[in-house]
Amino acid sequence: MAAQGKSATPRFADTSCMRCFRHAWNTHDWSSGEPVQVRCQFGQIGAGKCDHCRATKKSCNKPGKAMTGDWMNMAIMVNFAEFCLERTVDAAGDPVGDASGNALFNYPLAFRQKVCGLVFSLGEAFKESEKSNRAVQGGSGSPKSRTWLADRRKCLITMKPRRGPQASPQDISRWKLDVACRLLPDDEGQAPWALAVHSFKEEMYSAVVGAVGQKAADADWAAFPYLGGAGDD
Ligand SMILES: [Zn+2]
Ligand SMILES: [Zn+2]
Repeated sequence: MAAQGKSATPRFADTSCMRCFRHAWNTHDWSSGEPVQVRCQFGQIGAGKCDHCRATKKSCNKPGKAMTGDWMNMAIMVNFAEFCLERTVDAAGDPVGDASGNALFNYPLAFRQKVCGLVFSLGEAFKESEKSNRAVQGGSGSPKSRTWLADRRKCLITMKPRRGPQASPQDISRWKLDVACRLLPDDEGQAPWALAVHSFKEEMYSAVVGAVGQKAADADWAAFPYLGGAGDD
């Protein structure tokens, strides 16, 4: 069917499909010290597939539903890391450059490369865990998978019951993160993913200490965002 150009302006989703994620991880220059872009682009309103999957004539799949909460945790960690990669801006918020017109950054290149390396390793671990879990769980639409997902949601809600009427908006958003489907110990792929999350946090902290000193790093670390479920240990 002919493409229906209902929108002239490409839109970017908040997140990405697995193909865009893998493509971004495979093509980003991780030595550049610059953040990776991992959002699907949609050139048409109502398109079922993102532009990359349409162009390559491939299925446009989100990460396996078993790992929705783990995917959310990864996005939170990648966003946090991006603070370390920010460009220097002027009072109006516009990026500034040096006398030669090169972009200036808030932190030195070696530190930013270290942070990029940690983001890369985290994403690689997610890809591997998602792949191994998907191989065991099967496609998200299969009866076996649907039963598993329903049981897992019940299990997570039992582990983290919703707080009563006194719940604050922050409590509610944390609860939503806690009960988003995620891998638990003994699930296929859980152990390497949990290890990757642990290593990311530990090595990010060391890198920040090295860049700004212990006192400033501890202040920054107090702002490390909440991760749902076991990711917050
Ligand atoms: Zn995509
Ligand atoms: Zn896609």
